[in-house]
Amino acid sequence: MTKNCVAKRLKVNGIVQGVGFRPFVFQLAAKYDLKGTVANTSSGVAIHVEGLESQVAAFEAELAASPPPLAYIVEIASRMEAFQNFSGFAIVKSQGESKMSTLISPDVSVCDDCRSEMLDPTDRRYLYPFINCTNCGPRYTIIADIPYDRPKTSMRHFKMCPACQSEYDDPVNRRFHAQPNACAECGPRVALYDNFKNEIAAIDPIAEAAALLKKGRILAIKGLGGYHLAADAANDEAVRCLRNRKIREEKPLAVMSYDLATIRRYAEVGAEAEKLLGSIQRPIVLLKKKAPNPISDQVAPRNNYFGVMLPYTPLHYLLLRHGFIALVMTSGNLSEEPIAIDNEDAFRRLAAIADYFLIHDRDIYLRSDDSIVRQVAGAKRFLRRSRGFVPIPVFLKSKMPATLACGAELKNTVCITKGDQAFLSQHIGDLENMATYDFLKLTIEHLKRILDITPEIIACDRHPDYLSTQYAREQTGVPKIEVQHHHAHIVSCMAEHRLEGAVIGLACDGTGYGSDGAVWGAEILLAEAHDFKRAGHFDYVAMPGSSAAIKEPWRMAVSYLQDAFGDDLRSLNLPVLTGIGNEKLTVITEMITRGVNSPPTSSLGRLFDGVAAICGIRSRVNFEGQAALELEMLAAETAESWYDYNWQKDDVMRIAPAPIIRGVVADIQNRVPVSQISAKFHRTLIRLFADLCGAVRQESGLNRVVLSGGCFQNATLLTGLVRALKENNFAVFTQEQVPTNDGGIALGQAVAAAAVAKK
Ligand code: ZN
Ligand code: ZN
Ligand code: FE
Repeated sequence: MTKNCVAKRLKVNGIVQGVGFRPFVFQLAAKYDLKGTVANTSSGVAIHVEGLESQVAAFEAELAASPPPLAYIVEIASRMEAFQNFSGFAIVKSQGESKMSTLISPDVSVCDDCRSEMLDPTDRRYLYPFINCTNCGPRYTIIADIPYDRPKTSMRHFKMCPACQSEYDDPVNRRFHAQPNACAECGPRVALYDNFKNEIAAIDPIAEAAALLKKGRILAIKGLGGYHLAADAANDEAVRCLRNRKIREEKPLAVMSYDLATIRRYAEVGAEAEKLLGSIQRPIVLLKKKAPNPISDQVAPRNNYFGVMLPYTPLHYLLLRHGFIALVMTSGNLSEEPIAIDNEDAFRRLAAIADYFLIHDRDIYLRSDDSIVRQVAGAKRFLRRSRGFVPIPVFLKSKMPATLACGAELKNTVCITKGDQAFLSQHIGDLENMATYDFLKLTIEHLKRILDITPEIIACDRHPDYLSTQYAREQTGVPKIEVQHHHAHIVSCMAEHRLEGAVIGLACDGTGYGSDGAVWGAEILLAEAHDFKRAGHFDYVAMPGSSAAIKEPWRMAVSYLQDAFGDDLRSLNLPVLTGIGNEKLTVITEMITRGVNSPPTSSLGRLFDGVAAICGIRSRVNFEGQAALELEMLAAETAESWYDYNWQKDDVMRIAPAPIIRGVVADIQNRVPVSQISAKFHRTLIRLFADLCGAVRQESGLNRVVLSGGCFQNATLLTGLVRALKENNFAVFTQEQVPTNDGGIALGQAVAAAAVAKK
């Protein structure tokens, strides 16, 4: 044995298979002149290296610091071993073939290497729209079962040509064991159709599709996780037409541009946003609009932001390079249904919307919508966590029994835990139609299969009418645990930060079924994983018309005004009341007084709606949270002051909305601009919640504040409150790995239910 030489055994856990990890190790060993072996094992990758001590240390450091792009290292265990005097370094056969329990990679964007090959006229894959390698391309959406091997993916229909096969078999090739490896000879193809399913003959269907888009046509385009509906984003007429046909009146539409320079022509791209846009996950990033800009006003009306993404499949690049400023790329569905993934299904459902279809023959086994993120208060925040991120797990503090959590009603996702890992599903959608409910069931079965899990506990919301709750109740032979909505929100945030013990939880959202049957939504909880106590909340006001009050914020305006002014509300001389008219006003005030179809609510979302309506911003909404969003968008940079607020203390603290409402009304009567009213309203909430947390700290001695719930998608509220709490020396925790809205709630349900079961 040579002097200064050592031997080490490293075990790497995480997403390390099917991502080019072994060739990477092979090349890294060569770089540091090390000998030994690397092999896949049932729990990851095992490496034996020997060589100069300093070189082994350098190898270890680089392994941890810069693994392949798709790898996700959870842990590297390292120990000294006997020196065996290997003569070279080799990739050896998998050890313990029996049961692979390795993690599956998400679908990610085409890598730079593949992209430059695709644009190189001398490359054999020149302009091939399905080019990929071990560092890039589809994964989660093409897998039917484990282990992740070609016969278990939708690539099984394509037999590799000799050239592709030799790449696949070569350990030092970038396409070694790249399951979706293909070329124009042997792989998937694109084709263009009209909406009567007639194929349009074209030498280059993608160029033809681009030409149609330039003429203002609407195209259905098959992507990675499903179909998009595309239109030229600079063409007003085309975008309006898409909206009309899709029955999507005002909700913002996402756009895609070829590169950052093009995006900068219409939106502000800061350093953080640039990183998010260019990341291999390629999410939709919310970016501030530039004014003026060349994008149609129809893309994101009454919104200060565009949702923007860079191309992520080779096909997108080939399409976008035909000189668009941006293409609208919105999910290929009718409003609120799951996106289409299957070609036949797409023709059936989208023929009334799209003029043409750009399709291909690589099947999508599991749909996955585009993820949506925004940089707020120093971190990336998920508005939707789906393609590119699923199925990367959240790593929990400790192991727990296999649990299935069924999520909430809106923005539904489900969660399955395995050991100390929690797998939150892709975005499933609003469980308001059978198609989405079927997708929920399909996703649960799929996750159970690829994670190889049979749930020992099923968790769900307490709301009896949620389809997700009904799904849970229908399952037999497994204990079911119902978790209160806001408790689940708080535990979700605790879980991602691995918090144990008691915390002050502030859950603010639109709707959640309360333990007393009321509609909760601004809750200060003393929370632990297994239980909670309500410490404070907004005083109840009526929701006249129940769910109608969500779609028609003017109803909430009446409710808050009646709460604040009683019968005097009629003499207020507010535009919103004039607009409602005396007759309707009488009906609603009667409903409230007599308690007819007017459930009590403490929701902060409804307070936002009510204030927005009182300010005359919006009386009706086309999508959940629209009035609140528009109120935030109008807020001035700084608030000159704030509104009075107070709370009553019995066993819980009850915050009175009336003083805030009276302040808003006085400002309207004094002709204070809405931008200032909005800013003051936000500042009021920030002060109020910071004060309340202070009061709770004094009584409980707790210093950790956990923020969760849909209202914290409001960047002004989140940023301001985090700052205020930190100034008061609180330890503050917010959601970063999963959405703060109901899309992150299944994680909390799972962890809470397992904690209940343990007790
Ligand atoms: Zn690649
Ligand atoms: Zn080939
Ligand atoms: Fe919620």
